[in-house]
Amino acid sequence: MFDLMIKGGTMPDGEIADIGIVGNKITAMGALEGAQAGKVIDATGDLVSPPFVDPHFHMDATLSYGEPRINASGTLLEGIGLWGELKQVMTQDEVVARALTFCDWAASMGLLAIRSHVDVCDDRLLGVEALLDVRDQVKDYIDLQLVAFPQDGFYRDLTARENTIRALDMGVDVVGGIPHFERTMADGAASVRELCELAATRGLMVDMHCDETDDPMSRHIESLAYETQRLGLQGRVAGSHLTSMHSMDNYYVSKLLPLMAEAQINAIPNPLINIVLQGRHDTYPKRRGLTRVKEMQAHGINVGWGQDCVLDPWYSLGTADMLDVAFMGLHVAQMTSPEEMRTCFEMVTTHNAKTMTLADYGLHVGAKASLVVLDASDPIEALRLRAARLHVVANGKVISQGERADAKMSLPGRPPVSRRRHHVN
Ligand SMILES: [Zn+2]
Repeated sequence: MFDLMIKGGTMPDGEIADIGIVGNKITAMGALEGAQAGKVIDATGDLVSPPFVDPHFHMDATLSYGEPRINASGTLLEGIGLWGELKQVMTQDEVVARALTFCDWAASMGLLAIRSHVDVCDDRLLGVEALLDVRDQVKDYIDLQLVAFPQDGFYRDLTARENTIRALDMGVDVVGGIPHFERTMADGAASVRELCELAATRGLMVDMHCDETDDPMSRHIESLAYETQRLGLQGRVAGSHLTSMHSMDNYYVSKLLPLMAEAQINAIPNPLINIVLQGRHDTYPKRRGLTRVKEMQAHGINVGWGQDCVLDPWYSLGTADMLDVAFMGLHVAQMTSPEEMRTCFEMVTTHNAKTMTLADYGLHVGAKASLVVLDASDPIEALRLRAARLHVVANGKVISQGERADAKMSLPGRPPVSRRRHHVN
């Protein structure tokens, strides 16, 4: 007797299986004919996926778009300045309320694991207090990992170093950094070194905003990979953005990628954000600024798409839909073959789960009973449609249900419903 059974769904690898759930665990998979369950969801013909995972977000800033004003230039630097203005006037209650609303959106989209940076460049550590509270409030349905992020520079900001350590002492999970925003290349490299040492001493993971610039000489990812190896942090370190790699010399990149692979660096490009932020100093040709996704994957580097922002000083759109993120990434990185499109779906599920080192993730016996049923036949169709979420299950409980995207039609001689689903074999 199962508490919940998902019947007849198609897994991302094309296998058709029933999923039996007891409590918060998947306890059986396969053909479960005749099995009894307290509740049954019929997923026949629909895609059943493990939850979406976002390894790069800013939950302290989300849903603040327009406060106190909008980003007129559209650049990263004006966004950082604008966020600095907002930090002076926002309250802890406001941050909690905005973050909880975003988590509702995420839950409705089947996005059940999020790594959020939290700015520590505020001596009150108001954002840290707020997101620690939110992490606790959503823990039954969203795995929220927090990164201590010295937004204004670990050395550049006078109290950032002290505040980063305070935030880690308060229970923030991951060590962050922003080496390209320090005053000199040397300071950037030194910040990478000290922050990685901090993580090694405390047994923590590292996730740095790294080289989020079009400057091909911004090479802090090299220091990050080097320190990862020196300190034995392999597999526990992520480089976010890595956009300078787009503009780097090809010979240099041919030396860099094997170093990153040896250090088992996880890479997190953020295509929605970087396609709008990068290239702003260019005339034409105008660079796309997305890092070298396919080339890293060819070297065996784990790469997953991050969302980064929704309605904040850096990005004026967004809906918590990781399929939007993957859809943009697919286009900008030109990942258009069937294999590459399937990889784009894995980049917002299994690849990101690996970056976040999520335990018990996936669709298999013994895994956490968290999944999403989509109005699509397979991962490629899910991407094409940015498919509706029909059912979202978190820890064995149905937490969200949505409608199919069908439209009722009134065209003489034509069918009464338009589905837009069109399965390609
Ligand atoms: Zn970011």
